Amino acid sequence: MSSIDTIMELYYRALELHLENIEILERYSFEDLAKIYNGIGPDSFPEWLRKVISSLHPSLAPAALIHDVEWHESDKTRDSFSESNDRFKRNGKSIAKQSFFILNPRRWIVWNQARRFGNYCELFGWNAWCSPCECPICTEAARKANG
Ligand SMILES: [Zn+2]
Repeated sequence: MSSIDTIMELYYRALELHLENIEILERYSFEDLAKIYNGIGPDSFPEWLRKVISSLHPSLAPAALIHDVEWHESDKTRDSFSESNDRFKRNGKSIAKQSFFILNPRRWIVWNQARRFGNYCELFGWNAWCSPCECPICTEAARKANG
């Protein structure tokens, strides 16, 4: 789980960058966003993909937050799955362009990482998208529902 301060920072950064689907974050308190962020699919993602996630460039974190909330809200359809992965790539591209000057190699590194991560999710994330969300909010709700 992330700290509230980190989440607030990511939220305001996402606003500042005019990332796509920022509205999804506005439905939650910062406390809940902290529970959702990084709480997605630790078991349903293959080990190597989890390593890719943790090695993402820190500037991509606001796009990852939006992506995580989309996965938390997954309707388990193929369309919204691809939409979420494509949006991560677009948000990542937008972050790279706004954060790094054109001659800065990080602009291309970050952009490329975003593209690759979106593609990996599209290829290997389908099971996780269709599995019950494993963030603390969803596991608690499932526990209550099961008595
Ligand atoms: Zn969840």
